[in-house]
Amino acid sequence: MPETVIEQIREDLFRAEIPLPRNPLKATNAYIIKNGKRNLVIDTGMNRDECKAALSDAFRQLDIDLEHTDYFVTHLHADHVGLVAEFSAPGAIIYFNEPDAEILQRTDLWHLVSSLAGKHGFPEELVSAAIDLHPGQRYSPQGPVNFTMVEDGDLLTYGNYELHCITTPGHTSGHTCLLEPHHKLFFSGDHILGDITPNISTWLETGNPLAEYFSSLDRVHELDVNLVLPGHRSLIKNCRQRIDQLKDHHRRRLNEVLHIVGEIGQGSAFEIAAGMTWDLVADSWDDFPLMQKWFATGEALAHVQYLEHEGKLQRSSREKTLVFSVG
Ligand SMILES: [Zn+2]
Repeated sequence: MPETVIEQIREDLFRAEIPLPRNPLKATNAYIIKNGKRNLVIDTGMNRDECKAALSDAFRQLDIDLEHTDYFVTHLHADHVGLVAEFSAPGAIIYFNEPDAEILQRTDLWHLVSSLAGKHGFPEELVSAAIDLHPGQRYSPQGPVNFTMVEDGDLLTYGNYELHCITTPGHTSGHTCLLEPHHKLFFSGDHILGDITPNISTWLETGNPLAEYFSSLDRVHELDVNLVLPGHRSLIKNCRQRIDQLKDHHRRRLNEVLHIVGEIGQGSAFEIAAGMTWDLVADSWDDFPLMQKWFATGEALAHVQYLEHEGKLQRSSREKTLVFSVG
């Protein structure tokens, strides 16, 4: 196995690249603050052998003592929370947030998700296959994890780094970033990514995650940040410019959804997703890999709900399926 790629960002602060095999995200960035007293690891990769070996190698290269190491998890997705239980020594603190912990620890989660997916037009014969392949179902921590909950405004100090918790709902409902105001660093999780756009999606029938995402972006726009340290891919120097680009991206998506619904007259989230443009090499929607259809439908629904809240779309039922038309 090749050595894990490690980049030193500042004094005692490192980025370890944890590969995600056969996943379009390619890798998760785990950030490691090395400190004489206690170290902090921010996000970990998935609970699978390849990630485990890579993180373990990063700890070896940096000479990290796991007996003196705590963890911070930006959000509930398996590529971030996956390995906290595997590596944490007894007494380690694992910082997390309440809304995401509630979802992660629901015992009926996949049952609920599968019934919601059906409601939004995801073909019944594909739902259970998609859930079997879902990284959240396959690569999350096994068994309960003893989390320490943080809230917006909480302060964690590790060595020379003062980390302020900034709650940024949108990508998930409890997504939490860390701001280091002296070094002007922002650990953004999947709230802000550079080379790819964060997936904003939902399966719930109610809520408005995209509106939450826009307000979280506005909030971060106000912060004084010199360097964004995202959960995937490369570091971002111009935080405000990236926020503007992300907002533009979703506004274009909203227009596209409105246009598609206008054309087809009425459609489920699944049918609307099939009409949207996706950054994927496939000849048609039918040729999309199953998981990409899954994430695309969740993303379509988040945009549909935003438009519904704006009064531009309205919902009705077509047998058991929720459908949307121009309001
Ligand atoms: Zn991620």
